[in-house]
Amino acid sequence: MEKLRFPFFSDAADRRPAVIAGPCSAETEEQTLDTARQLVAAGFRIFRAGLWKPRTKPGGFEGVGAAGIAWLQRVKRETGMYVATEVATREHVAAVLEGGIDLLWIGARTSANPFAVQEIADALQVFGADIPVLVKNPVSPDLELWIGAIERLRNAGLSRLGAIHRGFTSAEKSVYRNLPMWSVPIELHRRMPQLPLFCDPSHIGGRRDAVAPLAQQAMDLGFDGLIVEAHAYPDAAWSDKEQQVTPLELAEICRRLVVREGAETTESLDSLRGEIDKLDDCLLDLLARRMHVARDIGRYKKEHAMPVLQAARYEALLARRVAQAEELGMDGGFMRRVLQAVHEESVRQQMEKLDE
Ligand code: PEP
Ligand code: MN
Repeated sequence: MEKLRFPFFSDAADRRPAVIAGPCSAETEEQTLDTARQLVAAGFRIFRAGLWKPRTKPGGFEGVGAAGIAWLQRVKRETGMYVATEVATREHVAAVLEGGIDLLWIGARTSANPFAVQEIADALQVFGADIPVLVKNPVSPDLELWIGAIERLRNAGLSRLGAIHRGFTSAEKSVYRNLPMWSVPIELHRRMPQLPLFCDPSHIGGRRDAVAPLAQQAMDLGFDGLIVEAHAYPDAAWSDKEQQVTPLELAEICRRLVVREGAETTESLDSLRGEIDKLDDCLLDLLARRMHVARDIGRYKKEHAMPVLQAARYEALLARRVAQAEELGMDGGFMRRVLQAVHEESVRQQMEKLDE
């Protein structure tokens, strides 16, 4: 798949991220134009604004709809920016293609629904339009569903695709609006290395002060771009006001981003990766040996008619190892998850012995 190319935030070399910036929603023609003018003056080249807003509950501001297309056309005419908006139905697709919008994205609630994604893909195919489309992750951390949405568009002949990581809904308490769960987009990148990856720190964080650190994390992980909510008057925004920043604040956030140079560090990176490979070899070998012993224990328990699971011993073992991990500077929760996975597999192996 061809890499999606866009003008970059600054004139610096390609290693600056592509930044798509603009309000959560187009509210009025004046607010849309005001925000776009401030953004272009601050160096941004790609403007976003939601026209159809998928709201969790009825009664909220549901967007201005197709009426906002003329405003985006004005942004394009007067500022020279590329313009982007969200589509969720075939009617949206028809309206934005007729209106000359440059870039589309599919929202998190829509990408979770294969019928809706297929409808969008079919509508795009009817127009034969190879417009760039960015697919947000579905609200739940279901990588296959995310990939499935991308494949539906690819099968419809779209070649300029990208993905947006906007975090995941979770019952878990978090300082963020949506859990980042970075391992999901990283795995997406491993599976589809050519697919440009954008991060949406606004919807992950849900707070203005979270935009900069999340954007930096995305850069550290090698994301290609950002999509960030910016509004001329964030406090007066009709949707998502807690997470919107002013164009000037966004320019400052982008200026401060440290984008690491890939080439310079390659040599030492290679040797570090070699070290990781060797350590992984050791880990695998140890795990294989541990499973072997678990099977021997299973055999012993079977011969002596003992139960496989001895809960008291397991709890004590877990607590001791978690404490030990913390002493070694590791995260206790991480060690608990690793040990639980290893233990679960040991029990399964012992049960197999019982069945023999
Ligand atoms: C948006 O980008 O304004 C939006 C609705 O985002 P999400 O689909 O990620 O909730
Ligand atoms: Mn929003």
